[in-house]
Amino acid sequence: GRVRLISGNWKMNLNHLEAIALVQKLYHLLRPEDFRYAEVGIHPPFTALRSLQLTFEADRMPFTLGAQNCSDEAAGAYTGEVSAPMLAKLGVGYVIVGHSERRRLFHETSELVARKALAVQQAGMHPIVCIGESAQERAAGMTQEVLTAQLSPVLESYPVGAIDGVVIAYEPVWAIGAGEAADPDAVGEITRAIRAFVSERLGEAVGARIRIQYGGSVNVGNARAFMTLDDVDGLLVGGASLDPDAFALLIKSA
Ligand code: 13P
Repeated sequence: GRVRLISGNWKMNLNHLEAIALVQKLYHLLRPEDFRYAEVGIHPPFTALRSLQLTFEADRMPFTLGAQNCSDEAAGAYTGEVSAPMLAKLGVGYVIVGHSERRRLFHETSELVARKALAVQQAGMHPIVCIGESAQERAAGMTQEVLTAQLSPVLESYPVGAIDGVVIAYEPVWAIGAGEAADPDAVGEITRAIRAFVSERLGEAVGARIRIQYGGSVNVGNARAFMTLDDVDGLLVGGASLDPDAFALLIKSA
């Protein structure tokens, strides 16, 4: 079956010293069996990646290191950018691409997101491709169209033989940082439709293997309800992943 993946997206929070302190606390709250239930990914800001790589190695912590973004270019005159090969060299396994905050605040298009996903694959890592409808799009009944339009450029450009390595994160924009998550039944329906869309485009076998996460106000109280949905294989957690006690309980409860 599909390996479950619970990912903590720290966004622009915690310096490298705070990052080390958080993962040490989190690790001590978890038991080996908690890591057998699901792979646990930690996505700190770029500035903490090297520190966490060394901390995971030194204390043999079985977390997977993740990044929150990368350039679509491998190298060159792109001041301020960080490339996928640089992240791979730091032991990064997963890179979030197309988070709604990047689409909205930094004007990232679905075509750019698809190029970033490809850059991540070419560097030997896995992209977590975020898709999700806004409140207005939802109210207009456009959810399905929005999701397929966001996903299509990735499915069209990604190497077919590697497509199983893509993780799709369904994050309704209106549920992010809202304190109230989407309704699990609705998420069940939408994630089933996402998987059906992948199957229709790339075949049943790919559809059956691709992993789908839910994100948006996930907490200790609702994590299990999402994880037990047939088409949800993991969670992309923002705020709750910044509190080691809450995140440890969330992982155990899922
Ligand atoms: P919250 O869990 O804080 O709602 O954030 C969700 C998110 O954007 C994860 O990528």
